[in-house]
Amino acid sequence: MSIKRASASKERVTLKLLKRNAILRDLPDEQASVVLKTAEIVEMKTRQSVYLPEDKIKAVYFPIDAFLSVVTRMKDGAMIEVGTVGREGMTGIPLLMGSESTANECFCQVPGRALVIPSQTFRQLLPNEKVRKLLDRYLQAYVNMLGQLAACNRLHSVLERAARWLLMTHDRVNRDSFALTHEFLATMLGSRRSGVTIAAAALQRAGYIHYEHGCMTILDRKGLEQASCECYEVTRRQFGSFLRPSVKQAA
Ligand SMILES: [Zn+2]
Repeated sequence: MSIKRASASKERVTLKLLKRNAILRDLPDEQASVVLKTAEIVEMKTRQSVYLPEDKIKAVYFPIDAFLSVVTRMKDGAMIEVGTVGREGMTGIPLLMGSESTANECFCQVPGRALVIPSQTFRQLLPNEKVRKLLDRYLQAYVNMLGQLAACNRLHSVLERAARWLLMTHDRVNRDSFALTHEFLATMLGSRRSGVTIAAAALQRAGYIHYEHGCMTILDRKGLEQASCECYEVTRRQFGSFLRPSVKQAA
């Protein structure tokens, strides 16, 4: 999708805001100032499309507190989440490998803000060695996540995967409560809604989460970590410093 389809925010792009995305935070000064001059803040809504398969990538999104899903959709319409992008990362990975389009679909899963720059501006950042190294590290973690989630989707129970998903989302949106429906979570996990409802009820009974009127609140991270499969910890370690905490709700 183009930048125009997301609603542009009137909020001003500041260096402080840039630093709330892990990739932008670690850019050298010169490249950060290029982003500062060209970036636009967009307010993203649930299910808002970022790109469709075979779309030309016109812009790169750096989430601040929005959380994006990368999904693979089958011919019959069934889809499953194969990757995620939050404040630790960015969309537009094929651009790093010289490609202009992507095979997957990406859309907003938890509403929030993202900084967006045109792909052309993003390409201008790439010749810098420090930027390349930073993006190579992110790419490595991202590819590792794809592999881990493929195995997770095949081998682990709905309850384990729901706990893993909630923890990954919590890390990336940087707030304790976020909008979520069981139907949406079921779609992301490639499971039946009834199975996800049972799993969420078990997590709620245990006191790990509170779920009401489409709003999910994380109450006990340690409990969720115990309920999750190993995939949460594996992916968290792979992203390492990209998931370093940033100041909650500060702009
Ligand atoms: Zn797993």
